[in-house]
Amino acid sequence: MITELPQCIGRLLVTPGVLERSRELLDPFRTLRVEGCLLWYGFVLDSQSCLVTTCVCPTQKSDATTYDIPAESMRDVRRAVRPHGLLLLVQIHSHPTRAFFSVEDEEHALNSRPGALNMIVPDYGNARWIEQNRFCIVERNETGQWERWSSKDWNRLIIVPDALPFALRS
Ligand SMILES: [Zn+2]
Repeated sequence: MITELPQCIGRLLVTPGVLERSRELLDPFRTLRVEGCLLWYGFVLDSQSCLVTTCVCPTQKSDATTYDIPAESMRDVRRAVRPHGLLLLVQIHSHPTRAFFSVEDEEHALNSRPGALNMIVPDYGNARWIEQNRFCIVERNETGQWERWSSKDWNRLIIVPDALPFALRS
């Protein structure tokens, strides 16, 4: 099993099931009208591809415009994912309205190595997962800046079916 993230995630594979679970996990935050943070975990497939398998919602303190994940809560997360060999692939959080990466978000980044990904969700998550022009993905570059994904970069996010139901013939 590969235990190191690629320098650049060229292909991020995710299933509709994970997207659905992610949206659901933000429901309580949306109801309270506070920001919520989720973590996508998964596996490295090869030198450029990663597969998201699991959406983690850590214990956090949230309010209308920010969130905080205490260190002990990240310890709980690491303890829970370790037996599965899951790696942190994307940090996600919701915003009240527009999705963008703020200076504060930069301070909250759990992973700030080159290639790290952060996704911001608009309207407290009340959006179609994933609408490329409303969501925002930023990527840490070699010089330590967070760069917003261009529309071309969005081709790197690949949704793979988790079920293919064909018609039942009787
Ligand atoms: Zn933010």
